Amino acid sequence: MKVALVTVGDELLAGRTTNTNATWLCAQLDDRGVDVERVTTVPDRVGDIARVVNEYHAEYDAVLVTGGLGPTHDDVTMEAVAAAFGRSLVEHDEALTWLEEEGGYTRQDLTAGTTHLPRGARALHNVEGVAPGCVIGTAYVLPGVPAEMRAMFESVAAEFTGEDRYREVVVANEPESALLEHLTTVQERFDVAVGSYPGEHVRIAVQGTDEAAVSAAVTWLTERVDVATTNE
Ligand code: ATP
Ligand code: MG
Repeated sequence: MKVALVTVGDELLAGRTTNTNATWLCAQLDDRGVDVERVTTVPDRVGDIARVVNEYHAEYDAVLVTGGLGPTHDDVTMEAVAAAFGRSLVEHDEALTWLEEEGGYTRQDLTAGTTHLPRGARALHNVEGVAPGCVIGTAYVLPGVPAEMRAMFESVAAEFTGEDRYREVVVANEPESALLEHLTTVQERFDVAVGSYPGEHVRIAVQGTDEAAVSAAVTWLTERVDVATTNE
């Protein structure tokens, strides 16, 4: 399964908020064997959000959108997602009933529009906050507040599946320039993807869906590379 993430918010683009939602979702999806192929951050602007959701919906198996669900003037994500699917925003009876029964709110307590979702969407309840998310087509719309986003993602996590992946890391005690040939050769010889991440030491990550191939590639590398004893 290949998916794209869209994180919404002017404050992310200004560097005032660190995009921990993207990192957290990427890790969750990776753990489930799902390939995240895009992470795009867009401003709180209907046209920008709608355009990218529409494009990614056509291109990927699913698109996850976070941020901009609340009731303030800059929260335009639902309107934009509705526009991307050519739907109107309508009151979602089940979302309202849930907030009344489980959240202890009355309709009067809720800011106008709180339970408006794109027509035909499935509501996702917000167990950590108020604003509901939704699923429309294969677009999943989640809140921006990290605790709310995480709880809501967990309620749909089972819908994200992929092949089991195996990953091992070899830490090298040599500069990356000395490893180039080995990195090329190991990828040619074994059915694995190899990443090289320089830092204090170079970390060589070997990943694939065939556990034996990953293991064989790591053995091949450790026989040729000066393996560092630290875990840096
Ligand atoms: P609310 O209903 O509270 O308005 P919301 O779903 O509309 O929530 P935003 O208004 O976009 O979400 O963001 C609310 C807060 O959540 C931000 O002030 C920020 O602290 C945090 N937040 C938003 N997006 C992210 C993100 N991608 N990573 C980390 N934190 C985020
Ligand atoms: Mg908001």
